[in-house]
Amino acid sequence: MLNIVLFGPPGAGKGTQAARLVEKYNLVHLSTGDIFRANIKGETELGKLAKQYIDKGELVPDEVTIGMLESEVEKTDHAKGFIFDGFPRTTFQAEALDKFLDDKRTEITIMVALDVDDDELVKRILLRAKDSGRADDADESIIRNRIEVYNRHTAVVADYYAEKNKFKKIDGLGSINEISERLYNAIGA
Ligand code: ADP
Repeated sequence: MLNIVLFGPPGAGKGTQAARLVEKYNLVHLSTGDIFRANIKGETELGKLAKQYIDKGELVPDEVTIGMLESEVEKTDHAKGFIFDGFPRTTFQAEALDKFLDDKRTEITIMVALDVDDDELVKRILLRAKDSGRADDADESIIRNRIEVYNRHTAVVADYYAEKNKFKKIDGLGSINEISERLYNAIGA
């Protein structure tokens, strides 16, 4: 299997690039943010719970997120591999994912991180807010909080994969095509 963690701060372009990687490598795309938003829209219990955190730019608790992610993987038959987008976002989630994949006799192949500076992120997210309809995109203080949560809790997850020699950082500035090419080169499969 080819299992990719697509990593980077909010607004780095993970969703856009994930769609291309899915095409290129024929993988299943699992975006925790997308799954939470679908649950919020469907007014499920999970959605109601997640919304309380997402609207403030905080992380949804690990247990909830891990349980949801694992059940999504279980729902998938015969996948050639996965792109994990927005997950893992804490070291605890990374450890849980490793254990879970290990039980399935597979593992993370590589984490690829999109590197974009904070001011560019805020600009991109405010621009995206015009169409995304996301409450957490529309308010600069919530965006700044998401970036701060990323720097405080999530950025360290890169070290977790770096220690296993599974981490590659790529420049997230440039055209969509240029960035895809960099990702294909980093993944190399
Ligand atoms: P972005 O990367 O632009 O912030 P996402 O769609 O990945 O957007 O995530 C939106 C929100 O969903 C996050 O701010 C967080 O509240 C919640 N979320 C997504 N993935 C996770 C996760 N792995 N752990 C905890 N919360 C998450």
